[in-house]
Amino acid sequence: MNYKLTFIILTLLSVNITQCQLLNKKDTFTRQDTLRGSITPERAWWDLTYYHLDIKVNPEEKFISGKNTIQYTVLSKNNVMQIDLQTPLKLLKATQNGKELKIKHDGNAHFITLNEPQKIGNINSIDVYYEGNPREAVNAPWDGGISWEKDKNGNHFIASSCQGLGASVWWPCKDHMYDEVDSMLISVNVPDNLTNVSNGRLRSVEQYGNTKTYRWIVKSPINNYGVNINIGDYVNFSEVYNGMAGPLDMNYYVLSYNLEKAKEQFKQAPKMMEAFEHWFGQYPFYRDSYKLVEAPYLGMEHQSSVTYGNGYKNGYRGSDLSGTGWGLKFDYIIIHESGHEWFANNITDKDIADMWIHESFTTYSENLYLDYHFGKKAAAEYVIGTRRAIVNDRPIIGKYHVNKEGSGDMYFKGANMLHTLRQLIEDDEKWRKILTGLNTTFYHQTVTTQQIENYLSEQTGIDLTEFFNQYLRTTKIPTLEYQIKGKTLKYRWTNIVDKFDMPIQIKINNEEQWLFPKAEWNALSVEDTIKLFEIDPDFYVESKKI
Ligand SMILES: [Zn+2]
Repeated sequence: MNYKLTFIILTLLSVNITQCQLLNKKDTFTRQDTLRGSITPERAWWDLTYYHLDIKVNPEEKFISGKNTIQYTVLSKNNVMQIDLQTPLKLLKATQNGKELKIKHDGNAHFITLNEPQKIGNINSIDVYYEGNPREAVNAPWDGGISWEKDKNGNHFIASSCQGLGASVWWPCKDHMYDEVDSMLISVNVPDNLTNVSNGRLRSVEQYGNTKTYRWIVKSPINNYGVNINIGDYVNFSEVYNGMAGPLDMNYYVLSYNLEKAKEQFKQAPKMMEAFEHWFGQYPFYRDSYKLVEAPYLGMEHQSSVTYGNGYKNGYRGSDLSGTGWGLKFDYIIIHESGHEWFANNITDKDIADMWIHESFTTYSENLYLDYHFGKKAAAEYVIGTRRAIVNDRPIIGKYHVNKEGSGDMYFKGANMLHTLRQLIEDDEKWRKILTGLNTTFYHQTVTTQQIENYLSEQTGIDLTEFFNQYLRTTKIPTLEYQIKGKTLKYRWTNIVDKFDMPIQIKINNEEQWLFPKAEWNALSVEDTIKLFEIDPDFYVESKKI
């Protein structure tokens, strides 16, 4: 998502907004944070294979009840299983093969002792039953939970959002990013005047009295926070997009009175698909289709059911984040949240500390969308324009094992870091192959930053160790110090990590060339007196004439 944008709205538009989960700057952590954010022994021994989340949503009571069937493969010897479910929801009961199991509750973590032998390699399952009034979203999607809203006609309009906070805010699961379930059935019972839209494809709708159960099947691995419910007075329209892997169903669910606006605005969805399949390779979820689903909040990258609440306007709620005008050429939520299908849903971080893998590439995808449809110059102006929102408050990489993401700079600084990397590669076709290569190499996987950094170093043929250390692990912006005397330019890097020696493109007297600064002073002599010296603005660096 785009919690950084909350900050921009705060600073640029002076809109007051409450502190949210994802802007939370806390740096002390509790046992609960460790249970939530680390691969505990009670998680490590089993691998998720399948969930059937089967729930009833009662809008009048703001109440959810039901069960989750959790199927898993036994990886190593253990018989205590950690399942997460956040208060005030109650984990009522757990069973295996019909027999009730002992549960030790520890805050939001629940330790279930299994009685049956857990043989390595076996596929077993447990059922966990729960109910209660889930946390209400305070400021969705940043400070999430369940949004219990009403549409303009007074109909219930309900949605889940839980990035950062965790899916266990509304259903019991293994709430850690490293282990994605391979497939999932989501059954949601709602009053029969409403429709529930979740991830994947609609398998069936069944009538029970004055309620209906919507069953959605997801056939690809899915991350926890990607799973969602959206309940409202929806109408549906669809199209088939002829994509790289054949016909792709694109379905749109919007509130009944927004149908005409949506038909116009969502014309950007196939344009998005065309641009991103070009840059990133085939859409990763053909089996599950692509959906845009109207939600009562701004939007979120829910896998194969991207939620949309941007008011059918271009830009970010109608405003241009870059200040260049290019940000109004596209609907920020359609483009950004769909970009996450490749970076967040296809390639997912194992630990939220590495969330730059989601947000830096996806923020950069906005620039690539512009590049594809409006040209390279437009794209560069846009990404450079967004630098005004970089704050360099904390490093982009957060703290590991406690469910703590890094700075919101993972958005615009991250995108500018990738734009800088593209300059270093100096070969757009190679850059495109690297981006598509990431999506095939790490297809449907969870990854660490090291895997991504190593891949980029290998594929570019450039040792990017210090480049990433500089931009991801410090708040320092490389600064080129220089001095001009007659025909000589003296230069060096300052404000850098040890061994940082990134070359940059410069212009001296209308002649472009590469400069190879290091921490030590170097000198370059040219034929004529230096009247003009410029650093290519595509590089995210600073300069200081001394
Ligand atoms: Zn995002």
